[in-house]
Amino acid sequence: MSLFQQWAFIVKEALDKSFLVAKFFCALHVTNTYLCSPALVQGPSMLPTFNLTNELVLLERISIRNGKAGPGDVVVLRSPENPRKCVTKRIIGKEGDNITYIVDPKNSDKTETLTVPKGHVWVQGDNIYNSYDSRHFGPVPYGLLQGKVFWRIWPAGAFGSIGRRPETVDPALKLFRSYSSRTSRDNAGSLQKRNVLLVIAHPDDESMFFSPTINQLTSRGHNVHILCMSIGNADGIGNVRKEELYSASATLKVPIQQVTIMDHPDFQDGFGKIWNTSLLSNILEKKIHDDAIDIIITFDNYGVSGHCNHRDVHLGVQRFMLDTSQRDIEAWELVSTNIIRKYSGPVDIWFSLWSAQNSLNGQMHCLLNENPRRSYAAMSRHLSQWVWFRKLFVSFSSYTYVNTLRKINT
Ligand SMILES: [Zn+2]
Repeated sequence: MSLFQQWAFIVKEALDKSFLVAKFFCALHVTNTYLCSPALVQGPSMLPTFNLTNELVLLERISIRNGKAGPGDVVVLRSPENPRKCVTKRIIGKEGDNITYIVDPKNSDKTETLTVPKGHVWVQGDNIYNSYDSRHFGPVPYGLLQGKVFWRIWPAGAFGSIGRRPETVDPALKLFRSYSSRTSRDNAGSLQKRNVLLVIAHPDDESMFFSPTINQLTSRGHNVHILCMSIGNADGIGNVRKEELYSASATLKVPIQQVTIMDHPDFQDGFGKIWNTSLLSNILEKKIHDDAIDIIITFDNYGVSGHCNHRDVHLGVQRFMLDTSQRDIEAWELVSTNIIRKYSGPVDIWFSLWSAQNSLNGQMHCLLNENPRRSYAAMSRHLSQWVWFRKLFVSFSSYTYVNTLRKINT
């Protein structure tokens, strides 16, 4: 190769790399401006939602662009009095709403009422005693809203979603059919504890795919039962894997007496093994009767990884739902996502929330993992499976951070 050719080669290589870097920054810019970006929140006005000290949160910008931000949402906006400054407040009313507010809560109970003008929102801090907000600067033009706060990244102990006000509907509860009829009578605190059955194919499915759901349900005191259809004996270490599942369940706060692991010739772990769905349906019928199960959660018809055993479990549950005479039972499936979303880690939370929000009549719900470290710990209990690529999977898989459940209609 001549000197000139060598140089040409190096220059071409350098240019290619620079294009790659430029592309990366373009993508970052587009993400920041149009989709999602981090922000720091501080000060007393949003106590108790946010602490006085710096908290790192994620903002999503799509709701604002689509005009979907509304009462209850925590938003970051440009201060109407100093556009170089951004403040964090909660939307109390949108255009056309009548707002009644306490003018000066520290000194009197005097209230005032007004109608929010077109194209404006009314914002207040959660700590009305120490917040400079619409009560002082009036309704805010919608255009000043920068993003909706939806996820707290730091402090790590408080990692998790920032929903609407605490009394609004808990996503885990939305799964239960009788939720709406009960809430009219009870407050959220006295809701009945329910029996949930998670049906999986192999030991480790629970920690790898379903841990956001399990964490949400157990933290609210619901009884989670696990029915694992095989001991995962593809490599001949079924008995070891069985023990690992008990151990992982304990980490996930599921009592081991509520974990049933089948070892049946018709349900053996492996690609190409076809499982008997009508037998599975019969087993479910008995299990549901014995444990007074209210709700079943399982794989969808793709089964996250496309594994045939996962898909057969889905078919078995679907069959049960068609066959059963128990009309008051509901089944939900874990929505399989495409490969990009699957490996986008916590970023997928945004896509999941967005798709669940846009789903028709509450047939899809998004459960965020409130304790990803617990999920990681649970997966590490599956020692025989705990190899480097699974460690990577658990860290980067969106299923460690969020589960979207869709109702199985039969
Ligand atoms: Zn599996």
